[in-house]
Amino acid sequence: MDSSSASELHLCPEGDLPCQFLQELQNLRGEIELLKEQVRTDALTGLYNFRFFSDTLPLEMERSRRSFQALSLIVLDIDHFKKFNDTWGHEIGNQVLMLVAQQITLTIRKLDYACRFGGEEFVILLPNTDLRQARHVAERLRESIENAPLLHDGQSLSVTASLGVDEFRSNHSDTYEGFIERVDSWLYQAKRDGRNCVRHPVVGVTIIKTTVTADEKDALFGSYDNRE
Ligand code: GH3
Ligand code: MG
Ligand code: MG
Repeated sequence: MDSSSASELHLCPEGDLPCQFLQELQNLRGEIELLKEQVRTDALTGLYNFRFFSDTLPLEMERSRRSFQALSLIVLDIDHFKKFNDTWGHEIGNQVLMLVAQQITLTIRKLDYACRFGGEEFVILLPNTDLRQARHVAERLRESIENAPLLHDGQSLSVTASLGVDEFRSNHSDTYEGFIERVDSWLYQAKRDGRNCVRHPVVGVTIIKTTVTADEKDALFGSYDNRE
């Protein structure tokens, strides 16, 4: 909150210091902030929820189109999650979800968006990040989940996840549903390849384009051109 909005909270909008509604107004503003937070947060894991993700993805794709910066998406699904619920109960299943959410939060950058997509599936949106970088994030995350087993009743329960990764570029014509499906298909490839792995398309060679201005061309080739 900036200093102007902070000070607004302590002043009557009419400038009336003994205003009888000031306290009520402050309480309502506080409640609105809390509700805004709750509307976009998954109650169990504290990550962003599906609603937030489905609002944010189209905006970030538009930003990527305009800025010519790549946008990457990781879809993560916990392996054999059903067995945690079936063998140790729903509460342990929930602890696994919280553990995975914690590893995601520890792995990503502040500007990335980690969301619970539904059930035991998570999505991570990485603005200004291409596939080459995003696959490293996904691999780091896979390893951190594998190395953070859940401790229960003196037992160490192994948790693993499968991840699909792909990027969106300004010249792509995907809808946001199409982009999710594309990444989802890499997740299914990871499941088919035996789980606990990351799958993504082949990473292409980045061609660095440099633009040379007319003045620079003149400076470089002017004398040569004159000789022609
Ligand atoms: P796979 O490796 O193929 O992903 O297998 P899986 O067992 O993870 O996948 P499956 O789709 O068969 O099972 C998902 C289970 O997740 C079924 C459902 O009961 C459970 N689940 C979904 N949401 C929650 C939740 O909020 N809490 C708990 N404890 N379980 C949940
Ligand atoms: Mg699963
Ligand atoms: Mg699933």
